[in-house]
Formats: sequence, C-alpha cells, structure tokens
Amino acid sequence: MPRPISATVHTAALANNLAVVRRFAPRSKVWAVVKANAYGHGLARAFPGLRATDGFGLLDLDEAVRLRELGWAGPILLLEGFFKPSDLDIVDRYSLTTTVHCDEQLRMIELARLSRPLNVQLKMNTGMNRLGYTPDKYRVAWERARSSTGVGQIVLMTHFSDADGERGVEHQVAAFERGADGIAGMRSLANSAATLWHPATHFDWVRPGIMLYGGSPTGVHADIATSGLQATMTLSTEIIATQMLGSGDTVGYGSRFTAEGPMRIGVIACGYADGYPRHARTGTPVAVNGVRTRTIGRVSMDMIAVDLTPVPDAGIGAHVELWGPTISIDDVAAASETIGYELMCAVTTRVPVRAD
Ligand SMILES: *Cc1c(COP(=O)(O)O)cnc(C)c1O
Repeated sequence: MPRPISATVHTAALANNLAVVRRFAPRSKVWAVVKANAYGHGLARAFPGLRATDGFGLLDLDEAVRLRELGWAGPILLLEGFFKPSDLDIVDRYSLTTTVHCDEQLRMIELARLSRPLNVQLKMNTGMNRLGYTPDKYRVAWERARSSTGVGQIVLMTHFSDADGERGVEHQVAAFERGADGIAGMRSLANSAATLWHPATHFDWVRPGIMLYGGSPTGVHADIATSGLQATMTLSTEIIATQMLGSGDTVGYGSRFTAEGPMRIGVIACGYADGYPRHARTGTPVAVNGVRTRTIGRVSMDMIAVDLTPVPDAGIGAHVELWGPTISIDDVAAASETIGYELMCAVTTRVPVRAD
C-alpha cells in the first residue's frame, strides 16, 4: 500500500471558477493563467476544466508546447516573453503570442526569420518595476514594434502591484493612460484581484490566475467567500495512529504542544516533505471525517498530529482533509504566514495527484 496521502484536482470547480471570471468581466476575453504547472495542479489535469477560456497565459516554452500537444489551438501568451533568439523558432512554430518588455527582445524579433508576424503584448512598467517600458518610453517602443515586419497585432499591457491591497490601482492606471495616450489597440491590465475588485481595469483581456484555482488574491478567504469561487484542489490523507495524552504530555519535535488535560490525538500521513508548510502553527485548521479540528505541535517531515477532541469516533483510516472544499487553502496559508498561491505550487512529487 502506498501512503494514504493524495491530491485531487477538481475539473468541475475549475470550469465553475472560469465561469465566475466571466461573470465578473463579461465584456473581456480571458487569458487563463496556467504558469507554474497550472499553479501546481498540473497543466494536463487543469486543461479540461479551463478549455472554455479564450487563451492561456504561462511562462515556460515547454509548457506552451505541452498545451499545443494537448490539442489547444487557440492563443497562448508568454507572460515574460522569450529570452534567447533561438526561443523565437518555437514561438513561431507553435504560434505563441509573446510579451515584449525591452528593446533587446524587439531587436531579436527584428533579426529573426519568422514564417509570419508575431502577435505581441507590449508591456508598460507603470510602477511594479519588474518588466516593461516606462510610460515615457512606451510610445517609441510601440512605434518601433509597429514598424517591424516581424510584429503583427500589438496588445497594450501592464501588471498591478497592489490590486489586492490598500494602495489600489489608480496610480498605475493613470501612468498607463499617460503612456498609452492616443495609441489604438486592445488593452490587458487585470490580474485576479483587479478582475474581482477593479472593474474599470477589465478592458479587452483579463489575466486571472489564483481565482481560477479558488484562492484569494489577498490570502484572506473571507475576501472571496461570496464570489462563487470553489476549491480546485483537495489534499487528503488518513489517520495512521492515535495516542491518548495525559495532562503535561507533549507532542512532536521540540515539545511544542503540551496537553492541559486528557485528550486523544491522531497522527496523519502528511508532512513538510509532501509540501505542507512546516511553519503551520498549532491550531491550523484540518478536517477529520468532515469535522473541523486543528493541528497540534510541530509539522514534521512525514507526519502531523491533530486534535481528535471534536471527532471522538475517528481512528486509524479516518479521512483527513488538509485543504479543499471544507478547509480553505487560504486559512492554512494564513496560519503559516504565506498565501495559497505558494501552497498550491509546493505540493511535492511524492504526492500522487489525479483529476476528477
Ligand atoms: C501571474 C500573473 C497573472 C495572474 O496573477 P493572479 O494574481 O494569480 O491572478 C497575471 N498577469 C501576469 C503578467 C502574471 O505574471
């Protein structure tokens, strides 16, 4: 028998979440962002649930090729663009749309021998200060791209730093309007947070990632609780042992938990080597036989202890949900000082994953 841990990707939940994106941004086309192996779900497993999208956004050329091999004939956007002149052979052969964020990339396109002009997203740096042309350099870049025989359609795009936070997007939208003033063409600005909370930024193409996977852009589950988004991944395991503790007994490495009175605990087959966050503190939510309870003590490499007080009947073999429809991945992330994005991407290869 393999260890009882496994992950399940929920195809219907992915399709539901894409429909939620369309409800929030009814006039926009959708780049479904599937970078990082579809946020850890597996590109091939996520694809059937997301195939009603208008296009897919990702980073790695080999992921783009895999999408074509899965039968996707529609648009594919390289969110960081390409890196070397030789990448353009693949961009050309597989009809990929590429981000262009610097003159070096434009130069590589000008020198390339392409079978047809490339569709590009010309990126403006409106304050994130990672990729893109500043607003005052944007028009010159756009004119250079437009006059290149290697460039076809040009979409104007930028990326927000604070669409999920207090600072918001207004300062970046203003910079974008300044840099794009008078330039015709489709626009793409909104990530998940802007898709959910800044409708004025939807324009022609939205680029949601985390919301497709039922995660909150803020990391706080309550912020998306009424949006209709569903969990797309369940990480589950079983109880493999139980212990009775008496007052003063401790649990696990570092004796980080001390029982205050008699209590029953379960030991579950999941640890940080499966991708569960080691920093999850005592009290991190977990469900045993569908009943919400808590982790106790330190997460070890292969095991975690859970409090069985609310589930007195649970014994060896009882079902445990680490995250999924009952336990929000955002709540587990919050107890570990991270965000759901990181947990989804971090499930390790020793965990078998299937799609339902
Ligand atoms: C990752 C990414 C997105 C999606 O971000 P979410 O916060 O997951 O919605 C959108 N656009 C770009 C350029 C990205 O890199």
